[in-house]
Amino acid sequence: MSFLGDAVRATGSAGSGRVELVEALEQANLPSLVPVLHQLTGEDRWLREPYRPTRSRGMDDNDSGGFAPEVAAEIRAAVADAVEQYEAGRPPAVPAPTGERLRELLELANGEPTPIEYADMLAEDMGFVPAPARTAPPTDVTAVIIGAGVSGVLAAIRLAEAGIEHVVLEKNDDVGGGWYENTYPGAGVDTPSHLYSYSFFPRNWSTHFGKRDEVQQYLRDIADGHGLRERIEFGTEVVEALHDEESGSWTTRTADGREFVSRILISATGALNRPRVPPIPGFDTFAGRIFHTAQWPDDVDLTGKRVAVVGAGASAMQVVPAVAATVGRLTVLQRSPQWIAPNDVYFAPIDRAVHLLMDRVPFYRRWYRARLSWNFNDRVHPSLQVDPGWEHPQRSVNAVNDAHRRVFTRYIESELEGRPDLVAKSVPDYPPFGKRMLLDNGWYRTLRRENVELVTESVAEITPTGLRGDDGTEVDADVIILATGFHTHRYLWPIEVRGRDGVRLADVWGDQDARAHLGITVPGFPNLFLTCGPGTVLGHGGSFITIAECQVRYITDLVVTMAEKGLRTVEVWPEVEDDYTRRHDEAHARMLWTHPGMTNWYRNADGRVVSTMPWRIVDYWRMTHEADLADYRVVPGS
Ligand code: NAP
Repeated sequence: MSFLGDAVRATGSAGSGRVELVEALEQANLPSLVPVLHQLTGEDRWLREPYRPTRSRGMDDNDSGGFAPEVAAEIRAAVADAVEQYEAGRPPAVPAPTGERLRELLELANGEPTPIEYADMLAEDMGFVPAPARTAPPTDVTAVIIGAGVSGVLAAIRLAEAGIEHVVLEKNDDVGGGWYENTYPGAGVDTPSHLYSYSFFPRNWSTHFGKRDEVQQYLRDIADGHGLRERIEFGTEVVEALHDEESGSWTTRTADGREFVSRILISATGALNRPRVPPIPGFDTFAGRIFHTAQWPDDVDLTGKRVAVVGAGASAMQVVPAVAATVGRLTVLQRSPQWIAPNDVYFAPIDRAVHLLMDRVPFYRRWYRARLSWNFNDRVHPSLQVDPGWEHPQRSVNAVNDAHRRVFTRYIESELEGRPDLVAKSVPDYPPFGKRMLLDNGWYRTLRRENVELVTESVAEITPTGLRGDDGTEVDADVIILATGFHTHRYLWPIEVRGRDGVRLADVWGDQDARAHLGITVPGFPNLFLTCGPGTVLGHGGSFITIAECQVRYITDLVVTMAEKGLRTVEVWPEVEDDYTRRHDEAHARMLWTHPGMTNWYRNADGRVVSTMPWRIVDYWRMTHEADLADYRVVPGS
């Protein structure tokens, strides 16, 4: 078992400086240190008062843990002693807590009750029990993976570990997927980077919320570290995939006319990959430059220009503050406002001292990540359930959601103090979390700038000189930036996918009604597995990489079973998928995202939530932990 945080012992630089360690501990996240102390020393006193931290407020890291200064000093000194003893060769007293013991430690670190199911999930994530990893016997089961983004890279790593021969077909010239393509100014994650990392590939991130170049470098590093490039065909766009029932194989055709035949086809094309350019009249008449955020031109210079940004979602949130100081005049066209939360460390770099702790203090990195996982993943999920008796059903869905509304509204009012005009335009009238929550990248401060104007209109028309809002406001612009989102309901589009009997996936799903068992597998499409499929985007928070790890583990498990049992095809039973979709839709019917007060990209024009997951992450982890062959019609034979 490899421990994140054992680097010092591994590199032999142990004991190289108590002073350095003591200094670094001043910057430690104390709630993450207390379970470390228990693990290193085995002493139960660290589980009791006065060493129990307070809970985090909101998404706050709660570095101080609410400890009195003398208690904080005692914890730090005890960690310095314990680390020195560890480096001198004393093994950790509790090296791999699981079950109830781990639950107790999680509860300690989180500062609040933590159900046992999280211990099961995190025992794997933290490396306290090995994640299931099976190896296939020699087999003719081979795979094609479409896409080398977050999920495709992971699938290639896991299939290689399982001994399944495969090739990755990637339309771009490098790995990264959405991170490769989205080069707009300000692009970055809004999930903390220590959580938006693979559980088995940590990094000392330079900031709490990594910017695009660092995320892209991280994905390059993992690809290089696992020798993936030789199995990736770059510059290879898939246009068609056809299933042949007799051989039980898929033929995947590429834009350059090549064919790849494999038994398994894994789609890792992402849900936010195909830019959506709205059909606004007059598009071709504009005399200046117009482009989508995800297709940012290398040669565009916005200095001193009049720029109009259409949209106010996650991409606009990042690009608008990033370009405001450069442009001459900036007009933001906001059809509807989004709820925006502050985050104390959103802009903060991560000090070298923290990197030292991550590398040198055993288990610290894992506890820090486990706390992020608690704060950013499922914690908010219960508050997104509709309370049928709630007396203000327009503005919120229950009392906690209403309290969130008050907190976020106060934040808007404080950021826009003295600008009641902007406050009126910025407070949404629908419940918080109804659209994807955004983290404030300086949005409100940017709106206050002299050279920035917020127009609360949809775009009616693009004109030769700019655009016109649907209330008639004319906006002159040299450059129009479309921050208008992605085709989120057309999974795998525009690839032509045909399953058994030549049935088109696009016909089964239509334009906007994709469904799949676990978001992974579709009746009529044997041996086809999706990552980031329907109903698996996280609307309530958390890291998609966690979901990708669940999906790839499930798919690998099933593929290894096929190899072991000599199965030609596996195809999910229609009734299994029906039952899953029924439960999925029923769960959504009780949740916030069906609220009529807003539009969002989670649901389709008929009101069915297609994109997001109604479950807690821990539920999905359990559902996908291993594949149940009884869910599948299997055809034997190679
Ligand atoms: P989005 O959330 O779908 O936002 C699109 C924006 O364009 C909305 O404000 C929408 O208005 C507006 N719009 C669309 N068509 C329009 C029209 N015809 N006229 C006027 N306005 C129009 O797209 P996004 O900002 O690219 O984000 C998509 C998703 O990508 C995010 O939710 C997130 O999951 C991911 N993302 C993440 C990050 C990050 O991690 N930091 C960054 C970027 C994107 P309405 O709201 O009124 O529909």
